[in-house]
Amino acid sequence: LWNRCLTRLEDELPSQQFNMWIRPLQVTASEDGGELTLFAPNRFVVDWVRDKYVERISEVLGELKSGPLPQLRLEVGSSRAAPAPRQPEAGAARGRPADSRAAPVIEPRAKAVSPELGGAAKHRSNLNSGFTFLTFVEGKSNRMACAAAQQVAENPASHGYNPLLLYGGVGLGKTHLMHAVGNELMRRNPNAKVVYLHSERFVADMISALRNKTINEFKRFYRSVDALLIDDIQFFAGKEQSQEEFFHTFNALLENGQQIILTCDKFPKEVDGLEERLKSRFGWGLSQPLEPPELETRVAILKKKAEEARVELPNDAAFFIAQRIRSNVRELEGALRRVIAHVRFTGAQIDIGLIKEALKDLIALQARQISIDNIQRTVAEYYKIKVPDLHSPRRTRSVARPRQVAMALSKELTSHSLPEIGESFGGRDHTTVLHACRKVLELRESNPEIEEDYQNLLRTLTS
Ligand code: ADP
Ligand code: MG
Repeated sequence: LWNRCLTRLEDELPSQQFNMWIRPLQVTASEDGGELTLFAPNRFVVDWVRDKYVERISEVLGELKSGPLPQLRLEVGSSRAAPAPRQPEAGAARGRPADSRAAPVIEPRAKAVSPELGGAAKHRSNLNSGFTFLTFVEGKSNRMACAAAQQVAENPASHGYNPLLLYGGVGLGKTHLMHAVGNELMRRNPNAKVVYLHSERFVADMISALRNKTINEFKRFYRSVDALLIDDIQFFAGKEQSQEEFFHTFNALLENGQQIILTCDKFPKEVDGLEERLKSRFGWGLSQPLEPPELETRVAILKKKAEEARVELPNDAAFFIAQRIRSNVRELEGALRRVIAHVRFTGAQIDIGLIKEALKDLIALQARQISIDNIQRTVAEYYKIKVPDLHSPRRTRSVARPRQVAMALSKELTSHSLPEIGESFGGRDHTTVLHACRKVLELRESNPEIEEDYQNLLRTLTS
């Protein structure tokens, strides 16, 4: 289980982060599998991992594991040092090495028990109760998907909305929205049997059902639900037998008027290794894309998450973060978490300075994705001049001012040094760049029009 979790995290995280914090963790599982202990080399790593990664780790474990989620513990030490029993035995001589004591137990986010095959009469849902429509921020990038999800929640299994397929890149809210439908279905009808599972788990459960000759129970279970939520169906690619089984389940549910909700990281037609008949069937209902959120939505999401964490996030601070973290909502949340940790640690107010400090490395990473080239093209277009004018020695105001603005933007948005920037502007000296940056700052403060131009350009470059 841990190895599969590692593979997933390795895919998700920047490799530097993965290698630094996650790879060194050692793991032991208790005999009954009810507890998973992660050992980190020192207290600092323990704190860091707890702060930044534990939540995600338990999410991934929840997606990969059938049955109840193990208790996750994080300790200083190594898995080779035999862990002491949880309940200290009277007179037990075995002790834990001194450095692995006193690590607090981490409670993973409350997660209900998954359905047992052929299981108990009362169904308990395994939905994440935090993923609701109320906590989902709507914006241009997700409006259609959100509307479709709400439709399904209000009128499950209605014609034209079955299956509902949400697709789009990582961290854009597919899983959240899918759970939101499930939670709303349960709210409206507490007896509804709503089952969420990751497609990897569908595959794993099916294989063990085949091995244990319980495939009929398996079939019966999945066909007995009111709504079946299957996450990340791209994982079915290349797994023929699972696709076959899923195809039959899928048909049975559709025929019986049970709702199916699917997510995929791209439009299913573009997933290699997925059978044609499945691809076409996935398109029978309603497919809606989730796009990366645009600037305004990113700001709204940050404000909402800050509010949920009861932290005052001023508008300019929210814009500052949103302009720099553009890839997806998960990254945005990660950045905000860091800022909040910084606030709690230093006791300071949130301002741009604090954010710059808290997100130093993230900002540098993102900045590299905006090139000076890109800035020059955008600035030239904005001021209706030609890119070569930015390189030329001409000093007329109509080109000198845009050139200075482009230099200042290059300094702010990329991690290039002053000499490198000078080099990109017709081989100018680094003092010229420095002068331009100061000049632009001064003009922005004294001249609202220039400030507006600058903000417009920032917005264009960072949306
Ligand atoms: P995906 O399944 O598309 O990879 P998730 O649904 O897991 O993405 O979303 C990643 C994180 O971002 C989750 O914590 C989720 O709550 C949050 N999130 C994504 N989109 C939104 C949104 N529009 N409003 C609020 N939170 C969001
Ligand atoms: Mg997901």
